[in-house]
Amino acid sequence: MLKFLKEKLGVRAVLAALMAGLLVLAPRAKADEPYARSKDYDLQHSKIALRFDLDEKKVMGDVTHTLTILKDGTEKIWFDSVGLAIESVTVNKSATKFETKETKLIVPLPGAARPGQKFDVEIKYAGKPTKGLYFILPDKDYPDRPKQIWTQGESEDTRYYLPTYDYPNDRLTTETILTVPAAWVTVANGKLVGVVDAGSGNKTWTWRESVPSSTYLITVVAGEFDEVKETWRGMPVTYYAPKGRGDRLKVNYARTPQMLEFFSKRLGVDYPWEKYAQAMVDDFVAGGMENSSATTNTSTSLTHEKLAHEYRTGEDPLIAHELGHQWFGDLVTTKDWGNIWLNEGFATFMERIWIEHNFPKDQIEYELWNDAKDWMENSGLYLKPMVRHDFDDSSEFDGNAYNKGGWVLMMLRHQLGEEAFYAGVKHYLEVNRGKNVVTADLARAIEEATHVNVDEFFSQWVYGAGAPKFDLSYRYDDAKHQLTLNVKQTQKLEGRVGIFRIPTDVEITTASGAKTYPVTVSKAEETFLFPADTAPLMVLFDKGGHVLKSAEFHKDKKEWLYQVKNGTETADRGDAVDALGKWKDDNDAVGALGEVLKGDKAWGIRATAADALGATKNPGAAKLLLDALDGAGEPWLRNRMVAALGNFKDNSDVIKKVNAIAKEDKSFRAQASALQALGKLKAPNALEVLQGAVKEDSPDSFLRNAALRSMGELGDDKAVPILREWAAAGKRIDTRQAAIASLARLDKNNKEITEQIARYLMEPHFPVRISSIFALGTRGDASAIPALEALLKSNDLSIELVPMIKGQIARLKKEPGGAQGEKAEGDSAAMAKRLDRLEQLIEAMSERLKAIEEKLPPKK
Ligand SMILES: [Zn+2]
Repeated sequence: MLKFLKEKLGVRAVLAALMAGLLVLAPRAKADEPYARSKDYDLQHSKIALRFDLDEKKVMGDVTHTLTILKDGTEKIWFDSVGLAIESVTVNKSATKFETKETKLIVPLPGAARPGQKFDVEIKYAGKPTKGLYFILPDKDYPDRPKQIWTQGESEDTRYYLPTYDYPNDRLTTETILTVPAAWVTVANGKLVGVVDAGSGNKTWTWRESVPSSTYLITVVAGEFDEVKETWRGMPVTYYAPKGRGDRLKVNYARTPQMLEFFSKRLGVDYPWEKYAQAMVDDFVAGGMENSSATTNTSTSLTHEKLAHEYRTGEDPLIAHELGHQWFGDLVTTKDWGNIWLNEGFATFMERIWIEHNFPKDQIEYELWNDAKDWMENSGLYLKPMVRHDFDDSSEFDGNAYNKGGWVLMMLRHQLGEEAFYAGVKHYLEVNRGKNVVTADLARAIEEATHVNVDEFFSQWVYGAGAPKFDLSYRYDDAKHQLTLNVKQTQKLEGRVGIFRIPTDVEITTASGAKTYPVTVSKAEETFLFPADTAPLMVLFDKGGHVLKSAEFHKDKKEWLYQVKNGTETADRGDAVDALGKWKDDNDAVGALGEVLKGDKAWGIRATAADALGATKNPGAAKLLLDALDGAGEPWLRNRMVAALGNFKDNSDVIKKVNAIAKEDKSFRAQASALQALGKLKAPNALEVLQGAVKEDSPDSFLRNAALRSMGELGDDKAVPILREWAAAGKRIDTRQAAIASLARLDKNNKEITEQIARYLMEPHFPVRISSIFALGTRGDASAIPALEALLKSNDLSIELVPMIKGQIARLKKEPGGAQGEKAEGDSAAMAKRLDRLEQLIEAMSERLKAIEEKLPPKK
């Protein structure tokens, strides 16, 4: 699944980051079962017939499970079932008594059963699900919204609308029979068998999935949708948008067949299902969900066509992530949640290889470089191993499962080489096809296919925690023509973090050229000797940045200046930009960053230089940014440059230029950045310009939303009335998110504002809830605590909301100078920092009209 925020920014990373670390479980929420269950029976097929009562938001179900006994002497069948009223149960068509507990339905068998005995258990039931199945309906505030019903099973929510065996370590085929209003469309797993009239203005749709998969991958989507049909190798490839938005499907999703082809060929295992549908639904609780053959994604991925081309990789990260799961997660499924990285790490890897394949190579190089920095900065993730079963107080769907998982697979590919790596992955898919796996199955498959023992690699990167933090320096001996490189691993050895043994490359460039030397580092401190004919111009450790790490390389400015200009690899130039950015008042460094800004071949490095120049706050840097703007046409770069200008308060040239761009620009993203920068610059006329922008229409209210967000930054309480107006129910959801976030920052003593935002907590609109939760935390008004606590007690919280709420309550309760001791204070400072960062992520999400998981937003 792509957790909520992920983004476009690669939804993926955001989501993952979001999930990382701050997850504190609410008292009533339960952690997912970390280990797979022992099984008494094997569920083989479920025939699931559902009807819906829209007024009551109720589901009426009739499910027949065909199962085979595994354990000798089994007398009762236990199903997971939460909040469902069970009306009747039959076993092999004979009515039977049954027992229900809070989370179980228990069905007695006629006697002690023997292994291999088969039973058909039919269950008739009804319920108003608080999770798992969601009704999105018009209401008084949104009378025109298309009706939608959709499910979200992962991780343990299928049981809220379907009594079943609800853990990944079982696989079954399904038949899904949906009776809905005649004008509706439905999507479920597998092939469409037929649609027949059901009387009373209804139709019944029957879908059949003949390839077994786990119950968390069962899906139902039904409602008022537009549909686009394509094919790939003769197989149906369909896209669905809430009615009225069908024209956005092709714009964002048309590359799906190319991805199917690329993934099938690259993996050497063809796409395994009978069709591929992607249904985009409103208010989705995640970024995307890889239900077998029928992915569900957030409708915020239906970017307006006038905006879509302003994102370099568009929705591809999300689309590739969920498609990648069709192999990794759906065809081969983690046995337990503790090994979820086998699903999510591979899905992230698949995103990355698609980006690598379909876009200029600097794109993936920049993303990996940036993702590594982001992961290294997250201390909460750092100490956790990727495979872990202790997630009582933090979700297993964290930035390790996603970002680190994807990174580790990239490293493994680099170390083994493409051919061997993909031979291993193909073997893994083939021998485990239709099975559940743990990490050892991957390591074994790779070794079987390549004859390379990867145990040590897995031990340090997957079962171990952390990553190396290098301290590097060298000296050159003129007489001996010899270079001595000192390599220290400075990471604290604690918990599962150890010293890493890693093969990598050192490259030494002298006047006569560059030479590369393979080395293996393995100690806390060691030295390597290399010949060098003259003093080096540049020394690179891990050239190209193929190791997940951080490195403090002690070089003089001259070498960084050389590296930023002459480094052939994106990551090496990026490191030089970061290093030079620390010389904030140095003309050489600032000038070099200006050159990068104008001319580096990787846009991401240019954007990083823009960030660095902005951070210098040096007047020379402002001029360089202003000068470079005309040459920056790409919206994804231009917007970062404009954002960087937001650092130069009181600079009249900057204010003039930002004002001009805020009024008109060829890029909506740049224009939006300018609107935001005006708030940050506290430009004299900012409120007036922002108010003007709020009144104007733009695609998806993109500029209005930016102007509203900027008002919070501006901090002028005169913006309160306009923010209260646009925060109100009935306005566009993403516009409300922007307004709510800003409103929280103004007129802080005004309890009415706190109350207004607190009222939104109980709204059915998931994005509004998230924004309101974070807004209340930001506002710092402790009078919101009861409302947040009440929300925790409500029964319909999705997995990501609980930790968000807990985090914000903690933030509001935080007492300065609390006597918790130093460590606790350090933790709470780290927590506050992380929350601030999350908030920025949330804002980035609204900007993108997105919901959460995966590329990190532009780094500041
Ligand atoms: Zn995923």
